[in-house]
Amino acid sequence: MEQIRNFGDERQVAQCAYCGRDTPTRDHVPSRVLLDEPYPENLPVVPACRECNEGFSADEEYVACLIDCVISGTTSPEKVQREKVRRILLNKQALTARLAATRKEKRGATEYSIEDSRVRNLVLKLGRGHALFELNEPQYEKPSSVGYIPLLLLSDSARARFDHLQASAVWPEVGSRAMQRLARTSPGIPEWIVVQPSRYRYVAFVDDAVVVRMVLSEYLACEVIWS
Ligand SMILES: [Zn+2]
Repeated sequence: MEQIRNFGDERQVAQCAYCGRDTPTRDHVPSRVLLDEPYPENLPVVPACRECNEGFSADEEYVACLIDCVISGTTSPEKVQREKVRRILLNKQALTARLAATRKEKRGATEYSIEDSRVRNLVLKLGRGHALFELNEPQYEKPSSVGYIPLLLLSDSARARFDHLQASAVWPEVGSRAMQRLARTSPGIPEWIVVQPSRYRYVAFVDDAVVVRMVLSEYLACEVIWS
């Protein structure tokens, strides 16, 4: 990935992106479990306290495995697409059993009753990380909305809204990565940042609200808004 230095206010650099506590430790955003090896260089990194760093890993593994199981149509480790997910399913049998139990065949179609709070928890974490990294705007408050839906299930109008990025009347903080990117694109329209093709992309911008959108495995569309 292209590396852009943050020239913005560095006051937040020592505070956890997720809870605001002072911390010397760091966390990758997106989490590496959502990416395949070899990892892209210069992955975004934000400060994160040890509790947050460790506290999200179960949800991260759950979501990574859930998405790949849904895409692959199976919870069998030997049949899923991603090597990393295969390893997790083989090593964490409780998780594999939980995923298998939520998978149901219904009139010829496969359905998963997903653990909503775990997905939401991760989407919010990713949103907070990207907001800090890109916009230099830590978001410790409760967001006004956290949403996720498979891209395929978006209506045409919802898909158009999700994909649409427009020049904003409000600019990100001077020196932030988003502002530096914006200064290069014309006419100042924010653009998707592809962390790993077909695996993870995101965009963060400030409008009337702080908005972060992510697409995981070109399957799950996610959005977090702080207005
Ligand atoms: Zn924390």
